[in-house]
Amino acid sequence: MGQNILLVGPPGAGKGTQAKILAEQLKIPQLSTGDILRANKAAGKLTPELTKAMDNGGLVPDEVVIDLIVDRMQQPDALNGALFDGFPRTVVQAEALKAMLGKRGKRIDVAIAIEVDPALLIERTVLRRTDKRTGQIYHLKYNPPPPDAELVHRADDTEVAVKKRLDAYARDTSAVIPFYEKEGVLKRVDGVGDVGEVTKRIFAALGV
Ligand code: ADP
Ligand code: ADP
Repeated sequence: MGQNILLVGPPGAGKGTQAKILAEQLKIPQLSTGDILRANKAAGKLTPELTKAMDNGGLVPDEVVIDLIVDRMQQPDALNGALFDGFPRTVVQAEALKAMLGKRGKRIDVAIAIEVDPALLIERTVLRRTDKRTGQIYHLKYNPPPPDAELVHRADDTEVAVKKRLDAYARDTSAVIPFYEKEGVLKRVDGVGDVGEVTKRIFAALGV
C-alpha cells in the first residue's frame, strides 16, 4: 500500500531535491504545488495577480492551491499514496488535505519537517538552478549542473523575494508543523549535510 507522505520546510530546505528521490524509490508520485503553479504560469494559465504573488514571494490563495491539488489527487497515479511537496503551506490547506484523504479512508502517514539553519537558505535558493528539460534541481556551488544543462533561474529566487518567502513561511507555514505534531505523525529531520545523507535520515524517519 502506497503511503501518503509530506515534506514541509522553508524555501531552500531541500524538499524538491528529496521529494524526487523519495518518490522514485517509494514508487509514489511527487505532488508539488510549486511545480504545478510554475507549469500553469509557463502555459499562460495563471492570472496576472497569481503570477505577481508568486514572483514577489507571497503565497497564492488557499482555494487556488486546494483546487489544484484536488485535481492532481484524482489522477490515477495518485489514488494509492503520494508524496506532497510544498503543500500544505497553511493550516487551512492542512485541514483540507485531511478532509480529502479522509474521504478515501486515508490520512497523512508521516509528515517530515526538513530543518535547515535560516542563514543557509538565501544561498541555497539564490544559487539554485533547474534544468528545464529534465526538471533536475542543481546548485551552482553544492550541486553544479553539467555543461549541457539548459538552466532556468526561478523568478522568485532573488534575495528580495526569498526574504519575503521566509517571512511567509514564518507567518503562515510554520504552523503546519504543530498541526502534524498533534496528529502524531511529525518527524523532524536535519536538512544540513550531503543530499544522500539527508535522504538516509528521511528513510530512517520513515522507518524504511
Ligand atoms: P520553495 O522552493 O520556496 O519551497 P515552491 O516551488 O514550493 O517553493 O513554491 C513556489 C511558490 O509557489 C511559493 O512561494 C508560492 O507563491 C506558491 N506556492 C506553492 N505552493 C503553495 C501552497 N501550497 N500555498 C500557497 N502558495 C504556494
Ligand atoms: P526546496 O524545494 O525546499 O525549496 P530544493 O530541493 O529546490 O529546496 O533545494 C534548494 C537548493 O539547495 C537547490 O539548489 C539544491 O540543489 C540545493 N540543495 C538541496 N539539498 C541540499 C543539501 N543537502 N546540501 C546543499 N545544497 C542542497
